[in-house]
Amino acid sequence: MLRLDSGVQYIKGVGPRRGELLNSRGIRTVQDLLLHIPKSYQDRANFVPMNALHVGQDAAVRARIYRSRAIQTRTRGRIQDAILTDGTSFIHAKWFHGGYLQKKAFLPGQEIVLFGRVEFDRHESTFVLFNPEFEMIEDAGEAASLDIGRYVPIYEEVAGITSRQFRRIVWAALADLAKDIEDPLPEEIRSANEFPDLATCLGRIHFPEPPDDLGRLNDRDSPYHRRFIFEEFFLLELVFALRRIEGRGVMGVRFETSDGIRDQVKKILPFHPTAAQKRVLKEIVDDLKAPYPMNRLLQGDVGSGKTIVAFEAIVLAVENGYQAVLMAPTEILAEQHYINAKRILSSLGYRMCVVRSGIKKAEKLELIRQIAAGEQQVVIGTHALIEQDMEFRKLGLVIVDEQHRFGVVQRLRLMSKGENPNTLVMTATPIPRTLAMTLYGDLDLSVIDQMPPGRTPIKTVHMMEADTERAHRMIASEVAAGRQCYVVYPLIEESEKIDLRSATEGFNKLSEVFKTGRVALLHGRLKSEEKESIMRSFAAGGIDILVSTTVIEVGVDVANATLMLIEHAERFGLAQLHQLRGRVGRGSGSSSCILMTPARLNDVARQRIRAMVSTNDGFRLAEVDLQIRGPGEMAGTRQSGMPEFRVANLMMDSKLLALAQKEAERWAVREDEREKLIRALSSRYGGAGPAGLVTVG
Ligand code: ADP
Ligand code: MG
Repeated sequence: MLRLDSGVQYIKGVGPRRGELLNSRGIRTVQDLLLHIPKSYQDRANFVPMNALHVGQDAAVRARIYRSRAIQTRTRGRIQDAILTDGTSFIHAKWFHGGYLQKKAFLPGQEIVLFGRVEFDRHESTFVLFNPEFEMIEDAGEAASLDIGRYVPIYEEVAGITSRQFRRIVWAALADLAKDIEDPLPEEIRSANEFPDLATCLGRIHFPEPPDDLGRLNDRDSPYHRRFIFEEFFLLELVFALRRIEGRGVMGVRFETSDGIRDQVKKILPFHPTAAQKRVLKEIVDDLKAPYPMNRLLQGDVGSGKTIVAFEAIVLAVENGYQAVLMAPTEILAEQHYINAKRILSSLGYRMCVVRSGIKKAEKLELIRQIAAGEQQVVIGTHALIEQDMEFRKLGLVIVDEQHRFGVVQRLRLMSKGENPNTLVMTATPIPRTLAMTLYGDLDLSVIDQMPPGRTPIKTVHMMEADTERAHRMIASEVAAGRQCYVVYPLIEESEKIDLRSATEGFNKLSEVFKTGRVALLHGRLKSEEKESIMRSFAAGGIDILVSTTVIEVGVDVANATLMLIEHAERFGLAQLHQLRGRVGRGSGSSSCILMTPARLNDVARQRIRAMVSTNDGFRLAEVDLQIRGPGEMAGTRQSGMPEFRVANLMMDSKLLALAQKEAERWAVREDEREKLIRALSSRYGGAGPAGLVTVG
């Protein structure tokens, strides 16, 4: 008897060699095999009368052999040519390279069933099936046939195992499967959603029976498909829900609010917050006041105003006597946050510092000492913050900006510097909700879905390199109006030198065209102080045109910059283009973005450029990106922790995902069911779970 977790090699017809092949493709257990569901189904049950066939149809026919012969050809080897009739008409069936059929008798009068695509044979003036799948009726015993006379599953070929072989292996696995396998889905969920039980679904998703509806099967809309999709999402969301519950049980840092503190928070606001900012802040404050540690993801499109929300949380932390830390992925961004923090928080008299990787040893040691002694209340920095020797005296709030640039591990490492500190991670690379739910499912989600008032949408145009002069004229007219511009060059690690050269050449050329001398070049190889002084000067309006590699991609905020020219836009990903474009359109002046590319573009690049030109909405773009790249790519391969789904598909199945999340939340709190659910989880995911998720219980 097979169990779901038996190795595939124990299935009849698999054996060690094929077993190994399947293993190498991630199909290790019977369960893995059974979740390799058909990619489509064919109706080979309803035989079409020959006089009703039409060209192009995939049809099953049942007939008698009228005459059959083998023809030896010079070019196409041996052709087996049979004339068939079902009493309504005659058709031909031809098998090229039909040598392998020699052993079959093909005698007149024999009954045969066939499946293939109907074509018209000009030589014979009849319909013909070329190389159809077929079975002699007395061979198989009609009922036992896996290939004809039923809805037949078509499988994606894996490890050289054809669809036809898969049918046999899956059939054998199902026949030998123990009858008492436990269904991981609670009965209550199944009946509420009309999901059949596990055994039925496994059987029918592979070998449907009447009255199953071929249309629904092929649209993945059958109860069996829906069940497996749901189940996959449910188990994942269950892990997240259990983790969140676990988190709630932990005693974390708890902040108090008072009228005094609320006044402090109000005092720092340089503007009226948007309704979305208010809502999100309330969600954050509720978490901060609760006894458990906050674990929240703050999503908001580029320029939606996440920073001020973070600063408000910082005020709450410091007023409660805790330290707060803010980590950013680049030095420029860390520096900018520091400048902002000084500007916005200075009236409150906080002690603040910035920690960069480049600073001198003695200076760094002194900072480390001050931080450990609790003398610094607000600490801002780059990756340097997660180094070993960095310790805090009383860390109550961890904020990670541009989270997508960091891995999960880095986030956890920073968090480990406090005792269950409150954590807020922010990301401006909008990801579709579905992806957020599977990628950051252990975090509570807040979304700023509204832009600050008074912004005019950025106008985006696509130009070919031949239009360079026109682009320069646009730059000139912005500069003449007292505005500033970015000119961005791609920087790809492998060819850093070449790209640096093109940025440098671009800089030289622009310096020639704009003789004011107010053109600067910024790139990653400059020393920190140089970068800072350039950025400071740009922010202060001392530079008109900033030529740069992508170091300015995230976070940089200069409201007077109103034009961005992106050179070689075809080399950037969609998220990156959107991030870059977000550097303009930050003030009330109208802004534009020029995407410069060569005349010839590949399909993907063209799709991206078109999407960029058509919308400014980061969430829309994220959806498009998901369509173009698929979830795995989009989440980023490194450390993303993106689970792989066998049946479910984030793009097609978002409704079931939402349902699964709701149900998982409901069931995770049911103590009576928990043990069974955890058992299901570890059976599905083995010890490790999706990216080591299953550590609960
Ligand atoms: P992001 O969400 O991309 O980090 P920022 O926090 O940098 O965005 O905010 C972008 C700009 O919008 C900043 O200059 C900020 O001062 C400004 N801003 C944020 N919120 C508001 C608001 N409610 N009203 C007016 N300006 C705002
Ligand atoms: Mg930001």
